[in-house]
Amino acid sequence: MTDIGLARVGSVDALADTIRHAAAHDAPLRLVGSGTWLHGGSPFDGRSRLSLRALAGVVHYEPGDLVVTAYAGTTLAELDAITRAHGQMLAIAPYGSPESTLGAVVATGTHAPLAFGDLQVRDLVLGLASVTGTGEHIRAGGRVVKNVAGFDLVRLQVGAWGTLGAITEVTLRLHAVPDVDRVVVGTSTRPAATLLAALVENRAPIPMLVVRTPGSERQIWARISGNPARAAALEAHLAQLGVAALHPVTDVRPLHVVPDGARILRVRAPRAHAAALLDALEARYPHATLAWDPVRGTARVILPADLTHGVLDGDAEAQALSTQCGGTTVAVAIDQGRATVRRRTPLEQRVKHALDPRDILNRLGTP
Ligand SMILES: Cc1cc2nc3c(=O)[nH]c(=O)nc-3n(C[C@H](O)[C@H](O)[C@H](O)COP(=O)(O)OP(=O)(O)OC[C@H]3O[C@@H](n4cnc5c(N)ncnc54)[C@H](O)[C@@H]3O)c2cc1C
Repeated sequence: MTDIGLARVGSVDALADTIRHAAAHDAPLRLVGSGTWLHGGSPFDGRSRLSLRALAGVVHYEPGDLVVTAYAGTTLAELDAITRAHGQMLAIAPYGSPESTLGAVVATGTHAPLAFGDLQVRDLVLGLASVTGTGEHIRAGGRVVKNVAGFDLVRLQVGAWGTLGAITEVTLRLHAVPDVDRVVVGTSTRPAATLLAALVENRAPIPMLVVRTPGSERQIWARISGNPARAAALEAHLAQLGVAALHPVTDVRPLHVVPDGARILRVRAPRAHAAALLDALEARYPHATLAWDPVRGTARVILPADLTHGVLDGDAEAQALSTQCGGTTVAVAIDQGRATVRRRTPLEQRVKHALDPRDILNRLGTP
């Protein structure tokens, strides 16, 4: 079957018609937002792509409620321009570009570094609408925080990578833009194990990352936000934890930059073993950029393309790292550069079949 290129839809009805037509002709669709991360996640059948970028704009926005509903093709930058005019913001700045679309950020359950209040996208989605693989338009959740009655279909779609529905609309919780909101970077004079233990135990409400770029010492990146008194107190607390030479950084893009062809691993281990994990990661991937999150105990590992480690197998990497960490459990997910498809569990297959019986939406397989 030839690649029919990129089709575009500008309305929910047109999307539903396109999906029904694809189902009737067994022509799987690759859903596209801004197309900045089609190489992320699992390999999908990419022969016919369907762009939802034109399905954009705000549907409903009540600044007084700190809630906004927007179409899935709206970009983070477009949303930010509208909400910031009311002194409000989305608490997360996901990895990737501000051109990322809301539908994709929700579908990928995107991780965001140094998120305000350590929130992640799944904490901010109050409701969504999507079109299933049979062309049915469904709604889940609502416009208020406590709105879930019955199955929480919102959570089902967050991180489903578009395999359970093409997201058309998203309702998000917003936050007021704080008086002070800056990122600071420092280093530590304390022994690594002591510092990491301190960050795990008494990090207070400071979103943080321990970052190591090849050839440089570990740095502690932290997000300081609130009123001036709170900001000063948080920076004093950082100093107590042993973080020194604190200085503000205006450009956090270095946290987002991923060289072309690079692979991204997400490595998780119990936080009590943080020091062993970071040592093991630095030994196993000396040329990688690492960012370890003390809240979740996860490390993002960016492996440059030219220093290939061959075909990466997450389980084999997890086993090797576990051995280097003295046998503690380590889990490895490949967020970018995955060559193999993970088999769905029987329950996942039944859920997929219920919402997309012809496996039309983001069919797993060779790109
Ligand atoms: C260089 C780079 C690094 C990144 N690193 C990470 C990372 O480490 N961790 C992480 O979690 N995220 C990461 N992201 C992802 C990012 O934050 C966003 O998820 C993504 O960029 C979305 O932008 P997009 O609109 O271009 O999506 P696209 O690239 O168009 O789509 C991304 C995925 O979402 C699906 N999709 C798009 N729109 C919809 C929709 N309306 N309904 C259902 N499915 C849809 C697509 O099929 C595709 O699988 C990275 C992105 C980039 C560009």
